[in-house]
Amino acid sequence: MRTVGLAEADLICVSSSGGKDSVLALCRTIDRCRALGIPLSRVVVIHADLGPLEWRAATGDECLPGHSPLSAPDLAAAQAAHFGVRFISCRNMLRTLPELWNTKSQSSLVGHSHCEGSMAFKRDQIEKVYTMLVKELNLYRAARIVEVMGLCAHESSGRTDRLAAYDHRDDQGWAWTHNAHASTKNTRTVSIACPLADQGLDRPLRKGEKISKEKRAECEAGVRAECAAIHEATGLPTLSWVYRYLPRLSCLCCVFMSRGLLARSAKLNPAFFRQLAIDEAKWEKTWSLEFTLSDVIADAETLDLDDSSTDTEWGNQS
Ligand code: SF4
Repeated sequence: MRTVGLAEADLICVSSSGGKDSVLALCRTIDRCRALGIPLSRVVVIHADLGPLEWRAATGDECLPGHSPLSAPDLAAAQAAHFGVRFISCRNMLRTLPELWNTKSQSSLVGHSHCEGSMAFKRDQIEKVYTMLVKELNLYRAARIVEVMGLCAHESSGRTDRLAAYDHRDDQGWAWTHNAHASTKNTRTVSIACPLADQGLDRPLRKGEKISKEKRAECEAGVRAECAAIHEATGLPTLSWVYRYLPRLSCLCCVFMSRGLLARSAKLNPAFFRQLAIDEAKWEKTWSLEFTLSDVIADAETLDLDDSSTDTEWGNQS
C-alpha cells in the first residue's frame, strides 16, 4: 500500500509522550508544514495517557533550570499549546496497566521481551481517536492520516530492525511506512512517518546492525542538546524534569527498564512502587525472572540519585 505524504494528508497526528523524541518530532513536523504551506489546523497532538503510570509534576528542587516541572501529560499539552495545535488526551479508564499484565499467563510480570499489553493499550486508544477525527472530517472518500512518531533507530536493536523494515526514506530523511493495523477498508488510510529515524547517524541502519553504547549515548546527547537549544531560543518546554534522573520519560515502571533504572524510579515514586509490590505479592508473580519489586524497593533505599554510575541502560524496545 502506498504511503500518504504530508501535503496530501487530511490529518497529521503526532503521537506524544511529552518526552524529548516526541517534542523534536513535533518541531520537525511543524517546520515542515510551514515550509510546505500546510495549515497547522491539520496537525493534532495525541497523548495516550496511562494514568498512574505517568510522571507527576516535580516537587521541591527536583527540576533543574532549563527543564519543565510539569507532569508528562501536562507537558505534552503545553508543547501542543505552544504551537497552537489541537491536543487530545486519550485514556482507557476501564483497565489499568497492572491489570493488563495480570492477564498474562506467565509467572513473571515482565516475562518476555516486550509489553504487548501496554502497547495495545496505547495503540487501541489512539485508533479510537482516529475514528472520532475521521467522523468530524465527514469526507466523501477515505481520510488520509499521517501518524508522526518520534522513533529513533539508535534507541534499541528492536527499533533499529523496525525502522529498517520501513518502506522508504524521503528527501528529508524521514522514514515512512503504511500502518495496516490502523487503516480500514473504507474510511481511512494511515501512514507512519518518523522524522528522527536516523537521528545522529550517517545513514539508515540495516536490520540486525548493532551500534555501540558510545554511539548510542552520542545520539541521545544530540537529541537533548537540540531540545535544550530549541527551549533556549523559543521558550518551548522541551525537556521534562525527569531527565535529571532517568534517560527517558517512559512509564514509571517501564518493562524495558533495568533494575538500576527501576530503583531510580522507585526512589522518586515510593508510594506507587509500594503498591505495585503489594500487587506483585497478591498475584504470586514476580516482576521479572531475576528480581522482584521488593528487591527494587530495597535497592532504592540505599540509592543516591545523584550518583550517575548506577545501571542506567535501557532494554530492547520494539
Ligand atoms: S514506556 Fe515502556 S511500559 Fe510504557 S508503554 Fe512504553 S514500552 Fe510500554
